[in-house]
Amino acid sequence: MKGIRERLEQDLLTVVSRLRRMDSAVALEELPAPVIAADGDDFSEVQELERREIGFATRELLIERVHRLQAALDRLRDGEYGTCVECGEDIAPARLRALPEVQTCVRCQDRIERLGRRLEAVEAEFGGGEDEED
Ligand SMILES: [Zn+2]
Repeated sequence: MKGIRERLEQDLLTVVSRLRRMDSAVALEELPAPVIAADGDDFSEVQELERREIGFATRELLIERVHRLQAALDRLRDGEYGTCVECGEDIAPARLRALPEVQTCVRCQDRIERLGRRLEAVEAEFGGGEDEED
């Protein structure tokens, strides 16, 4: 696993600097803008809201990635890197090269995702208050 630490640290730096830039962009957006929509229609306001929501979603993803990268560096330090946290098997090197911060092998990832989809389906069936009209 030569160079993986550098790779993880590099990724971490990249993500953190993206977050920093994003934070300053968000800060700018929070500034009062008296004449954003000079036309006076709602269109640009809706667009602006959508843009911000996308920004927040991306931000959350980036923060998640920071946590995963940091966890991967911890695991590397502890000598646990490259081992699946679910089943204890070695994670395929090709998978680690593609996604250096992964903690599970393909099989377990697949199982977790299927479980997640099943939970979503159960929630959709029992969680919603409204009945479908058809
Ligand atoms: Zn596994």
